[in-house]
Amino acid sequence: MTEKQLESTELHRQVKKHLERIQEMGITEIKGSRRVAREPDIILSLEKIREDIGDCTRCQLHEKRTNIVFGTGDPHAQLMFIGEAPGHDEDIKGEPFVGRAGQLLTKMIEAMGYKRSHVYIANIVKCRPPDNRYPEPDESKTCYPFLLQQIDAVKPKIIVSLGNLATQTLLETKTGITALHGTFREFHGTTLMPTYHPAFLLRNPNMKKPCWEDLKKVIEFLKNSSSS
Ligand code: SF4
Repeated sequence: MTEKQLESTELHRQVKKHLERIQEMGITEIKGSRRVAREPDIILSLEKIREDIGDCTRCQLHEKRTNIVFGTGDPHAQLMFIGEAPGHDEDIKGEPFVGRAGQLLTKMIEAMGYKRSHVYIANIVKCRPPDNRYPEPDESKTCYPFLLQQIDAVKPKIIVSLGNLATQTLLETKTGITALHGTFREFHGTTLMPTYHPAFLLRNPNMKKPCWEDLKKVIEFLKNSSSS
């Protein structure tokens, strides 16, 4: 790296730090400047994102939750899985995908040649919807910016969306998972592969095979992206 490049990296680091500091002070706009110190301009660390969430009461899901289920795994994972919402077991443990569906997800990850700790796992909303209902649109909308920040922080090469709600939220579509699964999509500057939710696979074991076909495409994608 040349001296000039080093200077520019250091300058970038200092500007980023300064913007983070003024954002912490609650300043979101610099008057007279066209640059706005908004969150999407700054990549926050996972620790900072969790800190910002705090003991969140931004949507009604906070009322009945036990724990906020932030996300888990390698903070630099190449592969990220996104589901819709925590269930009962996740709510108790504060970790995503730890119930029966989670055990199946772990098996799927291992069949792909990874350990669970190699990937990053999160949900659209971080608090359990009562009676395991789907999150309401306003709940998803409120929580979703935190997930986008997590994606920015982890920078996965590919995201696997699990099930209808996660896929439809991420792709802003009403098309169902049956039509979307197995097809690569562009999402938030990265690649997305929709597939079935492990809870759906537990109820419909005959769908495990098409799901595995989707995951094989992801394995191939990651193999090609690391050799290029
Ligand atoms: Fe906050 Fe998200 Fe929980 Fe709603 S679901 S209370 S926005 S952390």
